[in-house]
Amino acid sequence: MSKIKMTTPLVEMDGDEMTRIIWQQIKAIVLDPFIDLKTEYFDLGLPNRDATDDQVTKDAAIRTRELGVAVKCATITPNAQRMDEYKLKKLWPSPNATIRAYLDGTVFRAPIMVSCIKPLVSSWEKPITIARHAYGDIYGGREQLVPADTRAELVLTGPDGQESRTLLHTFSGAGVVMGMHNTDASIISFARSCMKHALDVGQDLWFAAKDTISKTYDHRFKDLFAEVFAAEFADAFQQAGITYFYTLIDDAVARVMRSPGGMIWACKNYDGDVMSDMLASACGSLAMMTSVLVAPDGSVEYEAAHGTVTRHYYRHLKGEKTSTNPMATLLAWTGALKKRAELDQLPELAAFTDRLEAAALATIEAGVVTGDLKNLVQLDKVNVASTEDFLRAIAARLA
Ligand code: NAP
Ligand code: MG
Repeated sequence: MSKIKMTTPLVEMDGDEMTRIIWQQIKAIVLDPFIDLKTEYFDLGLPNRDATDDQVTKDAAIRTRELGVAVKCATITPNAQRMDEYKLKKLWPSPNATIRAYLDGTVFRAPIMVSCIKPLVSSWEKPITIARHAYGDIYGGREQLVPADTRAELVLTGPDGQESRTLLHTFSGAGVVMGMHNTDASIISFARSCMKHALDVGQDLWFAAKDTISKTYDHRFKDLFAEVFAAEFADAFQQAGITYFYTLIDDAVARVMRSPGGMIWACKNYDGDVMSDMLASACGSLAMMTSVLVAPDGSVEYEAAHGTVTRHYYRHLKGEKTSTNPMATLLAWTGALKKRAELDQLPELAAFTDRLEAAALATIEAGVVTGDLKNLVQLDKVNVASTEDFLRAIAARLA
């Protein structure tokens, strides 16, 4: 059988621990036998980030913008304990944060749905994708404890030194205060990424905030979304038969619970943080959640939503065969290859990614699963397989 050809390489970012092992297995078992895989390889494993003073992460981000499509393995974000474990030169920043900052992108997360795992919300038939604005608000907030008998004000100082002041509160007793911000540029990028992604996947886009209470701050988000939509996307949405609408966050939550799913839900930073945990738990497992970073220029980086699965890795190092779920990492690969196929007009490659995804879902639906899904799947007969055997079952189905 001749292998499927690619024209432009993918940016391939390798990672750490258990997911680094799974990465090799996915390539060896379900990709290499079928595709003449073309990638530019960047080793973002922690030892190489340390050896290159993290230059490799920056290079990978730059190349992603140039080539347009990347696939990334989960990576360790070092903390003090990792510093000792890996004898690091310093505490390198999170690669995801570095890449996101460079590409200025928005992260979209969606559950991988299979018919034998019922979401806790019974109306959800199709995956709901959450787009979280990953800049500012309370995550970039500054806070202070306030002593009694204090006046708290917001002070803006212009380039000429001119001050404008807004009274927050006159405290008679003690209290707390917080200042937070966002920028038009970041909100516009967020809106653009969401609208690009909605067109890409052909799904409606919802955006919600609390502009009834936050008449300036949240209202700015609402206005900028409306402006970007009208100026750049309204026609394309109409042609694609999809809609954009804004509603209050309370209303969005109520509607989401009653909806069949299948839409993109754009959330402000805090809402996205909270709602993506809600979505992941309601759909079963973090191991069944995909993640894609979409830059306003259209560059994309696909990855799994989970981490490096350290606990399984330590068992793997002791020689145990682990049953770690490779689905989210596998779908990161198919997502990236599908995007490459679309950009380079490679119908054979596109069809292959569809078949591979279908084979993976069908394998689970046939009762061959990894350990994390054992108690989630509603099937009479369940066969818990090691990661490797699970991937071999997919490959067998595919062949
Ligand atoms: P994690 O790797 O997501 O794993 C937490 C637990 O969730 C695992 O111990 C496992 O539970 C379960 N789990 C996650 N993915 C699974 C999978 N594919 N199959 C089966 N079970 C899975 O989170 P963590 O342990 O908090 O973080 C480990 C490392 O990952 C950290 O160094 C962190 O910095 C990094 N991290 C990276 C990313 C990223 O690169 N995007 C994201 C998050 C965390 P059981 O042990 O109960 O089976
Ligand atoms: Mg959270």
